[in-house]
Amino acid sequence: MNTTKYIFVTGGVSSSLGKGIIAASLAKLLQARGYRVTIQKLDPYINVDPGTLNPYEHGECYVTDDGAETDLDLGHYERFLNVSTSQANNVTTGRIYQSVIEKERRGEFLGKTVQVIPHITNEIKERVQLLGDTGDYDIVITEIGGTVGDIESLPYIESVRQLKWELGDENVLVIHLTLIPYLTAAGELKTKPTQHSVKTLMESGIKADILVCRTEHHLSDDIRKKLALFCNVQQEAVIESIDASTIYDVPNFMLEEGLDTITLKKLKLSDSTPPDLEQWNNFLMRHKNPKNEVHIALIGKYVELQDSYKSILESFIHAGAENEVKVKVTPIHSEYINKNNIAEKLSGLHGVLVAPGFGERGIEGKIEAVRYARENNIPYLGICLGMQMAVIEYARNVLGLQDANSTEMNPDTPHPVIDLMDEQKSITKKGGTMRLGAWKCDLIENSIVGQVYNTKTIEERHRHRYEFNEQYRDQLEEAGLTASGINPDTGLVEIIEIPSHSWFVGVQYHPEYKSTVASPHPLFVAFVKAAYEHSENK
Ligand code: GLN
Repeated sequence: MNTTKYIFVTGGVSSSLGKGIIAASLAKLLQARGYRVTIQKLDPYINVDPGTLNPYEHGECYVTDDGAETDLDLGHYERFLNVSTSQANNVTTGRIYQSVIEKERRGEFLGKTVQVIPHITNEIKERVQLLGDTGDYDIVITEIGGTVGDIESLPYIESVRQLKWELGDENVLVIHLTLIPYLTAAGELKTKPTQHSVKTLMESGIKADILVCRTEHHLSDDIRKKLALFCNVQQEAVIESIDASTIYDVPNFMLEEGLDTITLKKLKLSDSTPPDLEQWNNFLMRHKNPKNEVHIALIGKYVELQDSYKSILESFIHAGAENEVKVKVTPIHSEYINKNNIAEKLSGLHGVLVAPGFGERGIEGKIEAVRYARENNIPYLGICLGMQMAVIEYARNVLGLQDANSTEMNPDTPHPVIDLMDEQKSITKKGGTMRLGAWKCDLIENSIVGQVYNTKTIEERHRHRYEFNEQYRDQLEEAGLTASGINPDTGLVEIIEIPSHSWFVGVQYHPEYKSTVASPHPLFVAFVKAAYEHSENK
């Protein structure tokens, strides 16, 4: 018999309270006690996946090994748990409806009227239980996007109610994350918004089992008592979640508050094994006590919104801790970079990362930044578009192929050093049609990457349409830009580097998606190290 337990995390009062971090922190604690845990995110928007969303809308699009374009919260899940997620871990309303409508077209509903209840809710419940039914997990934590009371969230909330009714209170737990605002004028924390959001949940037939309260000030015993009484939860189920200086502190905060013990108690699971957080706390120690500092430029066009480059910023935190240095990232908007100001913009910085991206805006600034890093021997890491820009820069300024470009930016360029693969040429639909997910790559011996990874074959995650154009490979290699990573099945160039430079690497894939606390990404670790050494030699 399947004994998987289900935990749902809902949000109230306000968005952006950090449901993903609370879910990931609880999962970390349960994992550290020996439970097999996975986390799933249900997103109430109608896009089938976030792949077609502009980063300004919803932050970074995170990509899994199996090629799913997903919500950035899945990145937190992987970084905290060091366990891969998949397509099944992120479900949107668009995907639910798409699947129900396809079933209707196939005649699977046998003449019935297709309705939100039961057809949409059944589909939601199936998607939640899919992970539990694999037998791979003792506990599935499902985070429900949005805020309780939103029209879009209703079918999800109703599905939680049904599952709790079907599987019983011991097997389904609801954690409600809410905000306790502090009124400076009154000098008081206020519980009323939380009372209202718990009431809204009750109107949908759900009683919150545990309240996690985001707050800027500690909750007094009186406040905890009041919340317990008015929100109908036990006092030990009122958990304070005070603002943290780093998200990586949250598991320890939740441990102190006993979120894991009350969870296990309510699910009738043993809490006799204490959590083993040794590796986690070692990382935290190094993260909080850096011996040195290094300054790195992050060049992109979505820099106004921190969430656009979430995984890159987190990878720097992991790599910094590994090197015992504090990585200070200076975001630079590529649209405002030109030949005249690049030296000033990069002054005092010890490494340059050109970020992934799509479309023409800001690319000349990125190319200028690559040129400056290459000519001045500043360590360089180009990710996806950043790798493509490095190839274009080399073709233009070293090979002298003026107007070399990617056909994404200029379809009529005389020198398409970056071009669409043949398979991509006939594709017209935008959603889910890029080269996505994990692809193999063979590393050339005696290359920077050969040493960095210390292995012959790697697998990294991709998300792009355009590729290094093989026709220019010989020319570029003769001029000193080598292809050091090749896809064994297609022959596609996945990595370029400049051996004569101190540290210059461009990768067609996204290493940032695979960096975790337990396993910082080797490329980021090596890049931070190179940048630090550069700062020392200056
Ligand atoms: N726009 C480029 C492509 O589609 C790069 C994509 C990226 O940086 N992820 O190939």
